[in-house]
Amino acid sequence: MSTDFKAQRDRMVGTHLAARGIRGSGVLGAMRAVPREQFVREGFEQYAYEDSALPIEAGQTISQPYIVAAMIEAAEVQPGDHVLEVGAGSGYAAAVISCIAEHVIAIERHPSLAKLAAARLTTLGYDNVEVRVGDGTRGTPEVAPFDAILVSAGSPEVPEALRDQLKVGGILVVPVGDADQQKLCKVTRLAADRFAEENLGTVKFVPLIGTQAWREDGSRAASVPLSGASRNQNLPE
Ligand code: SAM
Repeated sequence: MSTDFKAQRDRMVGTHLAARGIRGSGVLGAMRAVPREQFVREGFEQYAYEDSALPIEAGQTISQPYIVAAMIEAAEVQPGDHVLEVGAGSGYAAAVISCIAEHVIAIERHPSLAKLAAARLTTLGYDNVEVRVGDGTRGTPEVAPFDAILVSAGSPEVPEALRDQLKVGGILVVPVGDADQQKLCKVTRLAADRFAEENLGTVKFVPLIGTQAWREDGSRAASVPLSGASRNQNLPE
């Protein structure tokens, strides 16, 4: 097995992304730049450029490269954008987004994953990504609004708090459905009180667990109105 990861990455971008309809030069360039082998669990490096999700710590997954690229393309992430990712996991998608956007906030509910992701991102020099620990279904109202919000876990419905943290013209991409499968939903804020929704196809994500999504036991959490600042925390130095 070759360990020329750059060549494997180029091949992945050609075969799994460009050939399957990912068009944006920004997205393709970012996917060509970020070393996915540095974000997978130790021992899985040789599978880093297969187009599949892979296990990471805390029983979670790093998303499939095609889905990462498709979500970023759907969110129309542009240079200068202020972006929120919910479900930082390994930090890989946040790193890809950060190659295009101005600033990325990535929230992760598992402190151990957030710590690993933050350390990786710092080591690799992705200094425009801020990793926070907390329930991302609440978003981060204190630093909203966002040009784009990407949710990397499946929700029973579009989390209202996230929708409300979009700028007018901003886009939220979120998998919505049950535990087995979801539709990838693109929500565009057309005006302060007007949203357009588009179904981009079927996907399968791990569950989004939080006050505006699922409970740990798999039941639906109550959809409660939020008030005040979010409870997300910055990682300790
Ligand atoms: N984007 C990640 C990457 O590139 O590695 C993959 C994300 S993984 C498919 C989904 C992540 O969402 C998991 O790490 C999970 O712990 C996290 N998650 C689930 N519910 C969450 C919530 N309410 N807030 C923040 N993170 C959440």
